[in-house]
Amino acid sequence: MFPFMSWLSARGSVGFSHSEGFPLSEDMGSGFGDSSASPEHFGRRESDVRRLRRTRSTAQKWVVVLFLLGAFAAVTAVFWAMGYVQTRTLYALLGMVVVVPLAFLLVFSMGWNRRFREKRLKLPIVVSALAGMLWLVYLDPAMQIVLAPFTFVALAYGMYRISCNVAFLLALGVVVGYAGVIALHALELGNPALLKIEFMQFLALAGALPGFVYLTGKVPLLHTVLNKASRKIRTIEADAQRDALLGCYNRRFIVAALEEQKQHADDTGLPLCIAILDLDHFKRINDEMGHLGGDEVLRTFARVAQQSVRDEDIFGRYGGEEFLLIFPGTSLLPALNTCERVRAQVENHSWGIDMRCRVTVSIGVTQYVRGESVLEFFSRADTATYLAKEGGRNQVVVEEPVERREAEPASEGAVGGDLDAEREDDEDFTLVEEAGFIEERRANAQ
Ligand code: GH3
Ligand code: MG
Ligand code: MG
Repeated sequence: MFPFMSWLSARGSVGFSHSEGFPLSEDMGSGFGDSSASPEHFGRRESDVRRLRRTRSTAQKWVVVLFLLGAFAAVTAVFWAMGYVQTRTLYALLGMVVVVPLAFLLVFSMGWNRRFREKRLKLPIVVSALAGMLWLVYLDPAMQIVLAPFTFVALAYGMYRISCNVAFLLALGVVVGYAGVIALHALELGNPALLKIEFMQFLALAGALPGFVYLTGKVPLLHTVLNKASRKIRTIEADAQRDALLGCYNRRFIVAALEEQKQHADDTGLPLCIAILDLDHFKRINDEMGHLGGDEVLRTFARVAQQSVRDEDIFGRYGGEEFLLIFPGTSLLPALNTCERVRAQVENHSWGIDMRCRVTVSIGVTQYVRGESVLEFFSRADTATYLAKEGGRNQVVVEEPVERREAEPASEGAVGGDLDAEREDDEDFTLVEEAGFIEERRANAQ
């Protein structure tokens, strides 16, 4: 008996949820059809997704910058409306809010930022923000109220990319710069009351900044650790979908993919086919070449099969020398053609001169009938594979589906013919009984 029975009984406990790894979702890419079975070759669509994510995250970063500038401008505008800030300060600020981002936009769009090690130019952005704020405070002493909070915001913005030491230097620059502004105000305005307030502001800023920089300096560390952990999780997730020996999708993944594709076919009415591929006389190959040699044959077989199928087809190993091939949105004839191509490629592959056994594969293929269960669908392909073995191996056998009766609602799910009739009045049809039916079906097919 083919080992799919054990899968049937375990079926309830296996499989990824949709989010865990539906093969055609943007997280995975369909992958096959490349020249190698190694996982790197499965991710062609993955790079597109990464590019899209990068574009999105760049856009988000610009939104953040504009939001911070907008908040600064809005606060200043309120001060101006209340009569505390002069109109020329507001104009200077608006000029700054427009000119500085445009200058950086130009640098980024011309690609000049690529000449620097830190391509996001966080340090120059933070330096220009801090210098701009100090300039505004110099222009208008009333602006000193916003200096402290927005200095913290600017430093926090650069946190991931700016080292703790550079952040300390920046903070020192702000403190020294602010001291210079106070000195200029003292010389130019000669207002003792203002000097007093500015000195208090200065003390508060000088006292708080080192602590702030020290504490926020821990965040990049956390960021790095989290990044490493999430990269590891992604690798583990990808590995969990792969067969460790062959690199193709594993049983867990392929079974989940089958269920997903069945659901998709139910929802859309698109055709769906599957094929079960079973290497012929693999025991003999093992006997001749040893288990390690057999492993190598399996690896080569997986690669040859993957090269012979289309990108959108999903190929995986679900048992020792047994594989499942899913043809989403494909009807029987093209699926059959692909199976025949796989069979011929395996037969014609040069497996090594010193091998006495021929490596061939028997394939059973069938089409999904809308509304039937995965079990019924799979068992039909299994029957076809069995018939291919019985018929002399190294061949593709099609098991045509029996169409469901018109009157039967699609959701009640059983394949047509005798199986339906026998199942009809048994509401509590269990998996074990279902497996028994398949055995019976196979016996009838002989
Ligand atoms: P048939 O043509 O009827 O399919 O004959 P078979 O010998 O291929 O089928 P059978 O199911 O009797 O034997 C399958 C063999 O595959 C038995 C098992 O030792 C071997 N096998 C299963 N998994 C692996 C594996 O990962 N590596 C190796 N080398 N052999 C494996
Ligand atoms: Mg087998
Ligand atoms: Mg076999």
